[in-house]
Amino acid sequence: MLATAIHAPRQGDIELLSDALFVIGDDGAIVDIHRNDAHELAKDFEAGGRLVTLAPTQILLPGMVDLHVHAPQFPQIGSALDVPLEDWLQEHTFPLEARCADAEYAASIYETLVECLLANGTTAAMYYASIHLEATQRLATICLRRGQRALIGRVAMDNPDQCPPSYRDPSAAVAEAETRAFINYVRTLTGNEAGLISPVITPRFIPSCTDDLLHRLGTIARETGCHVQTHCSESDWEHGYVLDRCGISDTQALAGFGLLSRRSVLAHGNFVSDGDISIIRDTQSAIAHCPLSNAYFSDAVFPLRKMLDRDVHVGLGTDIAGGASPSLLENARHALIAARHLENGVDAALPAGERKRPGARISTAEAFWLATAGGGIALDLPIGVFEPGYQFDAIVVDAAASGSNLCLSPDDGAEDTLQKIIYTASRANIGSVWVAGRLVHGA
Ligand SMILES: [Zn+2]
Repeated sequence: MLATAIHAPRQGDIELLSDALFVIGDDGAIVDIHRNDAHELAKDFEAGGRLVTLAPTQILLPGMVDLHVHAPQFPQIGSALDVPLEDWLQEHTFPLEARCADAEYAASIYETLVECLLANGTTAAMYYASIHLEATQRLATICLRRGQRALIGRVAMDNPDQCPPSYRDPSAAVAEAETRAFINYVRTLTGNEAGLISPVITPRFIPSCTDDLLHRLGTIARETGCHVQTHCSESDWEHGYVLDRCGISDTQALAGFGLLSRRSVLAHGNFVSDGDISIIRDTQSAIAHCPLSNAYFSDAVFPLRKMLDRDVHVGLGTDIAGGASPSLLENARHALIAARHLENGVDAALPAGERKRPGARISTAEAFWLATAGGGIALDLPIGVFEPGYQFDAIVVDAAASGSNLCLSPDDGAEDTLQKIIYTASRANIGSVWVAGRLVHGA
């Protein structure tokens, strides 16, 4: 592909690859990126009919990496955002997820969601499905067929005190058995030999699970090396619940159950202490920062700057449907805004000295890094950066697209261009989408 690209190879740094030739191998990995002799070399590919050339209005970016999506919640996106987390779960979310007992219903939801995420430029997503094995298997086959890189978990939740009878695992043993069955299903799935789809051990969160189940899932994590996803210290209620029940913090408890490792992704982490941050960093676990969802359900702004400065792995999540946008670009925008609110304070009635938290902001380049390379690091996958050996997961942003709010000028440098994309680009600007070198959306 002959293209002008922008990526963020390091946190806070962006790089412009102007008129570069991307050579992609049969395995979907980037073989080489030629910068000086690109046009000359491109002639060979053009002669073989194997050259894709982007227009001057189009810019190639790494695909977006969404670290936190609840697939069965897609039908309620944008609704019931005015109630507390615990009520939202019990009254809205659990009844909706329970409907995925009907695998055909679930599959219809999942088809629409995967199409929507690809159209928004999300090339890799970490999904919670539901407690239903068959419906979760359907999500895996849909992502595989559509070509989206996906990490998918069959949700485990067996605590009768916190989960309604209509939507919970009948026992820890059943939840363990079905978790193992799903891992085996994905690992032996025909067409998934390259590992586009990965299974994820998924305790919903500590409130939903008994200690017995959490121990069992920790054992599976140790035995299989699979990814783990769960929620951690999301809201005052959730953080306080774990302190009351376990006598230690969410992070400490998850570590004790054997659920924190290089392949663990914790959603939110808004209320983690300095000690918790050390545990998360030392286990090389990651945090999925979900700024839109946090605005509704977390009771506080995530201390993103502090996490980055302490070298915690962090990426972004939409948290569909706690967050009301399927766009990771929009969440990157809100990560910037939330950090600025934290820096400036939000209550004008307070004196400036009490209102502000200096140095809490992040840069546009960091927001972009979080949505791409940061997500790749969090997942321990070679994605999110344009470098040889990394997978060619990429999107085209087209400033000339119909309905565009993005207005690029020939005078814009790489930094200006990226800022404009983060702040004004939308689904309308997302053109072609590639995953592992395969065109999966657009033309
Ligand atoms: Zn969530």
